[in-house]
Amino acid sequence: MTFLNIADVTKRFDTSTVVDDFSLAVERGEFISFLGPSGCGKTTMLRMIAGFESPSSGRIAIDGEDITALQANRRRIGMVFQSYALFPNLSVGENIAFGLQVAGRAKSEIAGRVEEMLALIKLPHLVDRYPYQLSGGQQQRVALARALAPQPRVLLLDEPLSALDAKIRLSLREEIRQLQRELGITTVFVTHDQEEALSISDRIVVMNGGRIEQCGTPFEIYNHPATRFVADFIGTLS
Ligand code: ATP
Repeated sequence: MTFLNIADVTKRFDTSTVVDDFSLAVERGEFISFLGPSGCGKTTMLRMIAGFESPSSGRIAIDGEDITALQANRRRIGMVFQSYALFPNLSVGENIAFGLQVAGRAKSEIAGRVEEMLALIKLPHLVDRYPYQLSGGQQQRVALARALAPQPRVLLLDEPLSALDAKIRLSLREEIRQLQRELGITTVFVTHDQEEALSISDRIVVMNGGRIEQCGTPFEIYNHPATRFVADFIGTLS
């Protein structure tokens, strides 16, 4: 059954159409990637799901609830950005607790949840450290824990691995996928890296100029590209 439903979404900035009639039905627990070159509208589509931008037209629904007009903080969505975006003046534990405090959760619940999240990302020993004392990979794991702590309905990942070096990128990619499967959380992952999308996704949405070129499993996208653009883009595997 469809869990996240994006129906005919278009986004215009002034005269340019950045996302053009985008429709996608995502199943509960699916891991979807938006893949395409710089400027194709991936991040803008993600920001509309998060509620940081509103569509010029079209609808977005989660679990049957139309969220198009709902404010970002009421959508129950977790997001991780490319640059770590942790609060520099808060410890790891405080960063993870932040969203729970804002949501008005009880102190006792918050402490338990932070502990649970730290165990999940396998960094319980770093609870009192500050972001500047962590490696890039550790910071992204904390950002992931912070996003997951309030039990969001959908997890949005905007190029979360791009700022990391190659070795960490590979291991964190595996960790993210494992965690996502464990939690069964519906996830949208934005990347311009074909290999990354092919290795991590249940399905890939290939975008070009704001439009969907093809949506399919990694096998379909790789073996049966629907358009010349997809063939060329996937063919540039490094
Ligand atoms: P990248 O991988 O480089 O982030 P992207 O595929 O995520 O690219 P977007 O960030 O969604 O692409 O941007 C798509 C287009 O929309 C770009 O041409 C960008 O300049 C334009 N754009 C994004 N936000 C705005 C805005 N607030 N006002 C005007 N134009 C915008």
